[in-house]
Amino acid sequence: MAQVTLKEVSKIYNKDILAVSKVNLVVKDKEFFVLVGPSGCGKSTTLRIIAGLEELTEGEVYIGNKLVNDVLPKDRDIAMVFQNYALYPHMTVYENMAFGLRLRKYPLSEIDKRVKDGAAILSIEKLLERKPRELSGGQKQRVAVGRAIVRKPQVFLFDEPLSNLDAKLRVQMRIEINKLHKRLQSTMIYVTHDQVEAMTMGDRIVVMKDGLVHQIADPLTLYEKPVNKFVAGFIGSPPMNFMEGRIIKKDSKFYFDEGAFKIKVMDEMLDDVASYEGKRVTLGIRPQDIYDKLFVSDAPPENIVTATVEVVEPMGSEVYVYLNSGKNTFVAKMGGHDKPQVNSDMDLVFDTSRVHFFDMHTEEAIAS
Ligand code: ADP
Repeated sequence: MAQVTLKEVSKIYNKDILAVSKVNLVVKDKEFFVLVGPSGCGKSTTLRIIAGLEELTEGEVYIGNKLVNDVLPKDRDIAMVFQNYALYPHMTVYENMAFGLRLRKYPLSEIDKRVKDGAAILSIEKLLERKPRELSGGQKQRVAVGRAIVRKPQVFLFDEPLSNLDAKLRVQMRIEINKLHKRLQSTMIYVTHDQVEAMTMGDRIVVMKDGLVHQIADPLTLYEKPVNKFVAGFIGSPPMNFMEGRIIKKDSKFYFDEGAFKIKVMDEMLDDVASYEGKRVTLGIRPQDIYDKLFVSDAPPENIVTATVEVVEPMGSEVYVYLNSGKNTFVAKMGGHDKPQVNSDMDLVFDTSRVHFFDMHTEEAIAS
């Protein structure tokens, strides 16, 4: 069992920098768990605390059922892959991969088998005699992963392992690490600032900001049911549009009044939204939930918004349309067949079943 549990874990650097604040989380056995958030949110510190490379200020860390607060990193049965690869420059790939096993006094035949098996899994058999300076970035990253694999640890920890690779290689390595996870069936904890990496790789994801956990959920739940405005804006690309407005009631129907337009609040959301009548709220809508009215045959008039097209970015299979309602600017993601005209007005349909409302002060989700 390689479940990893953090209970009320905090880390304060230099007596006053609160890097991680009362983090509680349970990474399940065999899970691919991603820590994501903007730079400085505390994700690396959290990972380093799990590895034992950073001492925690408060709280408890368990690997399996064992409290490991006082266990040295080398005795935690974990292996970590770093962003900068951390290979020994004077050693060959083979020696780099074997090094940790040698230190632990494994028999030579076992070391040889593990290095060769690991090299085969990562397709680096032909590189075993090379030195790190003779490798490309992607190859170095494979060796760094290989060095972790040969240890057969209970838990793999990855600290932004793909950040130094170019975009194409990043996508390729992402898929390979996913495959590796399926093959090895180990618990993996992965840190990234890239929400696309998090969404495509994670079984579950924790979104952090300012040392705090904002939400822990599977990718779809994070996308569909963000608990607050920060998570809503962080997950998804292009990001969710936000507009401020007021909830009003007219002829016993509730509307979100943006100032330049009104849209009806869906009946399903009224339980949560009705108490905001007369108050200002933030509406969130993703770019792909705004449609060109020309392509929607049965749009209810209460969901139609007219806005001026400011910029059109053709992306091939889709276009990003930057719009201005007169009060707010926002972006819509439309099909490549859409041909919006710059500086002209466009009738849009807001998919009101997919909008989100957030409290203006707490920024927590009211309805989504
Ligand atoms: P992330 O990995 O999300 O970018 P970190 O965990 O590296 O964030 O850092 C969290 C916070 O702790 C940041 O404000 C950072 O400046 C601070 N921090 C990290 N390491 C140290 C350190 N060794 N000494 C002092 N402050 C640190």
